[in-house]
Amino acid sequence: MIERTFRGGVHPDDGKAYSRDAALTVYEPKGELVFPVSQHIGKPAKVAVSVGDRVLAGQVIAQQDGYVSSNIHSSCSGTVKAIEKRRTVMGNLVECVVVESDGKFRTVKGMGAKADFRNMNRETILQRIRDAGIVGMGGASFPTPVKLEPKNPDGIEYVIVNGAECEPYITCDDQLMRTHAGEIVTGLEVILSLFPKAQGVIVIERNKPEAIAAMTEAAAMSKNIRVQPAPTKYPQGGEKSIIKVVAGKDTKMSQLPAEAGCIVDNVSTVYAIYEAVCLATPLIRRAVTVTGPAVRNPSNFIVRVGTPFRELLEAAGGLVEGAEVRKAIAGGAMMGIALPDLDVPVQKASNALTLLTVDGAEESERKLTACIRCGRCNEVCPMGLTPQMMGVAAERKDYQKYENRLYGLECISCGSCTYVCPAKRPLMQLFKDAKGAILEARRAAQQGGGAK
Ligand code: SF4
Ligand code: SF4
Repeated sequence: MIERTFRGGVHPDDGKAYSRDAALTVYEPKGELVFPVSQHIGKPAKVAVSVGDRVLAGQVIAQQDGYVSSNIHSSCSGTVKAIEKRRTVMGNLVECVVVESDGKFRTVKGMGAKADFRNMNRETILQRIRDAGIVGMGGASFPTPVKLEPKNPDGIEYVIVNGAECEPYITCDDQLMRTHAGEIVTGLEVILSLFPKAQGVIVIERNKPEAIAAMTEAAAMSKNIRVQPAPTKYPQGGEKSIIKVVAGKDTKMSQLPAEAGCIVDNVSTVYAIYEAVCLATPLIRRAVTVTGPAVRNPSNFIVRVGTPFRELLEAAGGLVEGAEVRKAIAGGAMMGIALPDLDVPVQKASNALTLLTVDGAEESERKLTACIRCGRCNEVCPMGLTPQMMGVAAERKDYQKYENRLYGLECISCGSCTYVCPAKRPLMQLFKDAKGAILEARRAAQQGGGAK
């Protein structure tokens, strides 16, 4: 049988050897923890504490404000030290609740209490997930409860657990699957209980044989759950790619996975759902990889949200002697975000700190040079776009052509085109700028129209 795959894609050096076998260990933070009120797509949460308040781990310190929003919890016990704007992974200033930890990590009453989801109705399950402040932890940060309430729940055919972890360097999901397979399967069963007509599919790239074995064993007793190994090809873990691989359907950027009969959740998110529903535990900790050629002991940690990245680097032994760090990235080398500094806190969607040296950073520091029309970028685009022409339109700021004739808003920012370009054109950055300008112009037009 021919294996189904998505169009295009690339095979970058995955860099996973640095940390793939580093066992998950718990890291407990030392000093203050910082909680941005906006760690999700949608409206920022509303601060629910004051300076001087004593708080506990698991306590809501900023409340979900509207349907597309999410609760923020303190991940430690201690005292609210400040409520002020601080820089976050995105480089922007965001209102944050700063908690001075007392180092005891005392929790709110009832946290950790075991419960069987089979005795819960749909609304109770969704409320637990909502209360726990769960968002997409693979990077998207979209509030999970919204995703779990599609217009037509009976139309959902597949609940897909995204264990592809195709992004170079990152290995925390691999480790989570190897060590917490049973909990992830239970998390998937929780989601499946909301979609009685759906089957569960756990997609894992073949470069993670231990995770495939562990998840297959854990899922062996579940009739409607299967593990689907997939070729190691970037961006296998992109939402569009994974839907194609499992359901055989092509989807557009403007289309929700539910419209294609799919719910897609990252492995860490599914684990967080298990904790929220079966252990009354909000999203206050997550798995994070600290890796790259500049890191002395590349590691996989279970980390409290709010911990500064700098502490994680120290916990991983600091820098290799003489290493010249050219780039610190939140995430992996293809889609990660260059960090403004290491003092920014780990957020719910922070899966890695990757420190690249001169060689590794070269790929992401490209100069604008002329296209030699080799066509490679067009061949690898998983969305079937024409990055070569989009690049020209974006450079000329011809956004009309970029959007309407070249469908540039369908770009998923995977960076595959940039990766293969022999002229080293910074295509993905050009597309990000173009998309930003188009969406900004749309917003301005809407506001102008509303003011009339
Ligand atoms: S960054 Fe956009 S245009 Fe380039 S390959 Fe990915 S989806 Fe295609
Ligand atoms: S890969 Fe680079 S050089 Fe080749 S066609 Fe695309 S933009 Fe031009």
